[in-house]
Amino acid sequence: MNSTLLAHLNPEQLAAVTLGAEPGLILAGAGSGKTRVLTTRIAWLLSQGHVGPGGVMAVTFTNKAAKEMQTRLAAMLPYNVRGMWIGTFHGLCHRFLRAHWKAAGLPQGFQILDSSDTVAAVKRVIKAMNLDEERFIPKAVAHTIAHWKEDAARPKDVLARDPQEMKMVEIYAAYDAQCQREGVVDFAELMLRVYELMRDDAALRQHYQARFQHILVDEFQDTNKLQYAWLKLFAPPGGRGAVFAVGDDDQSIYAFRGAQVGNMHAFEREYGVRRLIKLEQNYRSCGHILDCANHLIDHNQKRLGKTLRTDAGQGEPLRVFEAPSDFEEARWVLEEAQSLHRGGLARAEIAILYRSNAQSRVIESALFNAGIPYRVYGGLRFFERAEVKHALAYLRLLENVNDDTSFLRVVNFPARAIGARTVEQLQDAAKASGRSLWQSVSALSGRAGVSLQKFIELIEGLRRATEGQTLRAIVEHVVEGSGLAAHYRSDKDGAERLENLEELITAAESFVTQEGFGKDAVALPVDELGVNGQLGPGLTPDADTGEIMSPLAAFLTHASLESGENQAIAGADALQLMTIHAAKGLEFDAVFLTGLEEGLFPNERALQDFDGLEEERRLMYVAITRARKRLHLSLAQSRMLHGQTRYHVRSRFLAELPEASLKWLSPKQGGFGSGFERDYANAWQRGSGLSGVVGAGRGGEARGGWPAPKPAAWQQAVAAPVPKKAEHDSGLRVGQAVFHNKFGEGVVLTLEGAGADARAHIQFGRHGAKWLALSVAKLTPI
Ligand code: ATP
Ligand code: MG
Repeated sequence: MNSTLLAHLNPEQLAAVTLGAEPGLILAGAGSGKTRVLTTRIAWLLSQGHVGPGGVMAVTFTNKAAKEMQTRLAAMLPYNVRGMWIGTFHGLCHRFLRAHWKAAGLPQGFQILDSSDTVAAVKRVIKAMNLDEERFIPKAVAHTIAHWKEDAARPKDVLARDPQEMKMVEIYAAYDAQCQREGVVDFAELMLRVYELMRDDAALRQHYQARFQHILVDEFQDTNKLQYAWLKLFAPPGGRGAVFAVGDDDQSIYAFRGAQVGNMHAFEREYGVRRLIKLEQNYRSCGHILDCANHLIDHNQKRLGKTLRTDAGQGEPLRVFEAPSDFEEARWVLEEAQSLHRGGLARAEIAILYRSNAQSRVIESALFNAGIPYRVYGGLRFFERAEVKHALAYLRLLENVNDDTSFLRVVNFPARAIGARTVEQLQDAAKASGRSLWQSVSALSGRAGVSLQKFIELIEGLRRATEGQTLRAIVEHVVEGSGLAAHYRSDKDGAERLENLEELITAAESFVTQEGFGKDAVALPVDELGVNGQLGPGLTPDADTGEIMSPLAAFLTHASLESGENQAIAGADALQLMTIHAAKGLEFDAVFLTGLEEGLFPNERALQDFDGLEEERRLMYVAITRARKRLHLSLAQSRMLHGQTRYHVRSRFLAELPEASLKWLSPKQGGFGSGFERDYANAWQRGSGLSGVVGAGRGGEARGGWPAPKPAAWQQAVAAPVPKKAEHDSGLRVGQAVFHNKFGEGVVLTLEGAGADARAHIQFGRHGAKWLALSVAKLTPI
């Protein structure tokens, strides 16, 4: 088997795959085989008997990548790889906490809050504290809390700089207490909990350090500080565990979330990596595509520097199309994709990428209307649809009755005459006693108490009826027994929602098959979990089956962690739609890269400083390098986004690609070099008449596009980021509440620039977030 395993590897790849039990680091560009080396190394270590499947941990970037790795390993190895620790940081942390819930101070049936649940939970805290939601915007607060957690900072560790921030820390503490009370954890908490547990529990730490002899990390450039610290707890430098990391500095695209390319240097130094392995041969893309990638990334200054070559021939030049509108852009994409498909390409080999989720809507509706199957990864996922979330909430309550988020979601859905006042009373009682809503029901008397009691009986009835049933039967029973199915059946617009509930049942069934739960496939053999057959300390598998997670718990986890792999369209060969972030590490024969417009990509928010622009360029590099044979680029002159028509000019990235590799399908005049500055100048001048709202205007008025400084100042603004200060020259502060005579009350999110170029990004209650030029806009602090 060995010879086939190692066949086709080039010498550098071979050296990496067969490295001894020592720290290893590969630094190499896109498509050079990093992930393939990592997977092959696992197979090699196992097949040589250097390690058993329980002694390996592999961290990948997406669930999709983890699945792919498992599939590849299963093909290379003669045994069941399901029990292996292969997953994302979040997925592995979740698994860890399922095994060690007691030590982690969690209830056994703890549930995960997805991002919208998290915002809802934060909102409840803000409300309970009687704070103003316009001042403490739940989404922004949730974001800040996640940031603190990613810095391993608990409320007591945060150094608040002003009264606003002090309040935020109070919210953070109250939110943590609420999650603890309800037995739920958010994404960031998964990571932090495990980190703290490993840090503080010596027995557990020793156990895992002895257990994992090989830890392999893909996409290492995107690990953040906490993840790196977490890794060091599992395999400390100089310890027994060998860490093997692969990464590409040019593909670092999570700096905005605290990821640090510097971790690669730190790793090399702290672990004493003896030989840094570089791979320069690209096996993925044709010449034109690679030329574009190399040219583009060359515009970045902060690089470790490397180039890629390919033997794959030049291939077709990139097709570039500038559409008058987003609608027409979508139509072009659709037609080109169809023609590729007619030419013999499977739809699953065609990806349509965009910078932000909001852009997918118009493409989706074009595809939907034309009846072309597609699958969206990320975005509004199947599991995030309201009716599916309702069903999941019932299922969650079966696992954990103290999950208040789920309780609130369905206590009166379908309607069972439990009014808002009753719920409020219940919340007050829960707050007063520090117990969950479920536990507080007995505190309410009278009619309110009776109707709540009925709800409790309903859930308990569902639980009794589904005990010992298969996952499919449980979901089926809950969909009917909860009254959800009847509710949507009687609703004349409920047909699609009913279909989605049906789909949930199907998803449950296929989940069981895919995951190998079932009669003859034990989920996770107990001896897999330990060292030499010994269970880890505090490990609590199910007494009957040895599983550390019931199929229902695993399914619920899957629903909150997965990134849309099980879209509602079952089994069809479908076009793949996703953001560029979600496409990381993946490859497709043909890729459409849409929305190449200033303000959109590079994104206006990222353009506030030089590092932001470089990160956008790396993102563009990631997008380009997803393609094997064909790459299509497009943009729209006008676009509906967030309820506004916006006019944009061509992305500067188009001008950074080699002309010889591009084939323009629309007239090329009026692009970045010429029209850009002119448009800006116009927009700027008009801006003064528009309460200071400026944007990249094109043939009309300026409408909240890119935060445009004066053209002359543009270079300077990009090249010289304004250092972040607590107090801005304008006298405003981030977090400050202000009043604008047209937009009303808002909160300052960002301040930058100076003098005539000073500008602020402000979140207004009704009008959303806007960039204002401070020399023009009249803002009064309130
Ligand atoms: P990214 O940075 O985008 O994650 P990567 O470096 O991880 O890329 P892989 O996905 O591992 O690259 O490999 C890219 C493609 O090249 C895959 O299809 C892989 O199977 C193929 N490949 C890698 N090495 C070889 C090789 N030695 N011979 C033939 N094909 C190879
Ligand atoms: Mg990879």
